[in-house]
Amino acid sequence: MGDTGERAAELVERLRGEGVAGVTVAWADNNGIPRSRTVPVATLPQVAETGIGVSTVFAVFDTNDGIQYGAPGRETPSGDVRLVPDLDRLTPLAGQPGLAWAPGTQVAVDGSPWPWDQRSLLAGTVASLADRGYTALVGYEMEFAVCAATPDGSIVPAYRGPAYSPHALLEIDGFVTDVLRDAEANGLRIGQLHAEYGPGQVELSLGASDPVRAADEQLLARQTVLAAAARHGLRVSFAPLPSLALAGNGWHAHTSLWRDGRNLLAGGLDGPDDPAGAAYIAGLLRDLPALAAVTAPSIGSLARLRPGFFAGAYGFWGVENREAPLRYVAGSALLGADHANVELKVSDASANPYLALTALLTAGVAGVEEGLEPPAPHAEDPGTWTQEQRAAAGIAPLPSTAAEQEAALVGCPRLTDALGAERLGAFLAVRRADSAWAAERETEDVLAAWRWRY
Ligand code: GLU
Ligand code: MG
Repeated sequence: MGDTGERAAELVERLRGEGVAGVTVAWADNNGIPRSRTVPVATLPQVAETGIGVSTVFAVFDTNDGIQYGAPGRETPSGDVRLVPDLDRLTPLAGQPGLAWAPGTQVAVDGSPWPWDQRSLLAGTVASLADRGYTALVGYEMEFAVCAATPDGSIVPAYRGPAYSPHALLEIDGFVTDVLRDAEANGLRIGQLHAEYGPGQVELSLGASDPVRAADEQLLARQTVLAAAARHGLRVSFAPLPSLALAGNGWHAHTSLWRDGRNLLAGGLDGPDDPAGAAYIAGLLRDLPALAAVTAPSIGSLARLRPGFFAGAYGFWGVENREAPLRYVAGSALLGADHANVELKVSDASANPYLALTALLTAGVAGVEEGLEPPAPHAEDPGTWTQEQRAAAGIAPLPSTAAEQEAALVGCPRLTDALGAERLGAFLAVRRADSAWAAERETEDVLAAWRWRY
């Protein structure tokens, strides 16, 4: 047995002592849907060294679990990959005693990188940034709708407001308490939790961390929230838009970029002090339509990105502007300069978080390396302007159809190169399948079909 196996053997002893019977190894597919395998705890040493056998078809699963053999290199049901758990992230689940959880990386059967795996892509992106002297911090805000568990899957919000009210949360008090308690036990650092704007909507924020861990934790947070909901007879929708009648669920990604131990985004209400920080924002803005295609890629995302809903529908940036798809969050005397970051609001749960963060960091850092200068920020909501006013300010709508999203992504070699031909081909194949399926249905029916899938 190698070092990894020996380490896993020690973990088995500890896990058994805690009553753990199995380990669930999870990854995210191209629709942001978590998939998994569970193994008996005794097999962990073997599994940690050689992985779990998994079919290659998950690379081309669409949102309906249809398999899209049209993707280049993934034309057949034949093939196997190995799903290797990350022991550093192994977490006994507070809300599911008896099970532990770990994020997994898919590798080829000979152990080499698998060109369709997203987690190793992000790890590679972070390593290449480190080689160039950069580190990034990422923190997610996660919005979700807490609902009654109805037999037919119809949506009945578990509370009716008032928005942001402690009285609203009283109706789901036990659930909220369990989420906070289980999240802490699972090593998640929740910054805050509140009743959001929409009926039944709750938001929690996760503390900033390195990008791979942030993506892992976004998956672990879903598992934690769903387990607490199940215990309280509730159902949770992470879908970008659970129904046309409800508020959208944004999973806003806050990032800061650091060099020589300094936050390049540091600054106050005039934006980043360092031109490199402004250039990071300029890089994100330049590639925003393509970024939206990766970070808010589903039919539900497109329905969510409506003007006036704080989700970001037009391409611009603002300082603390909640309607801006790129919101600069300033530092201050109270919070310190290092609090500063930029929030990508278009992002949601239907994105694969590893792909999404690869695209985001690639776009932002390209801006820094090219010394881009952003246009002026806007404090208003351009959705309230006339078409002429927007045109004069150089503000265009973000892609509003799947075809526009695909064109934006395919037209951005910076991001397509970053994803790689294999991942891009699989990603586009499932997007096309989803949109062909949705084209024959009413939007509300599509939203209903995908409501509980994330
Ligand atoms: N629910 C909004 C969204 O779809 C975000 C609201 C907020 O700014 O918190 O992203
Ligand atoms: Mg919010």
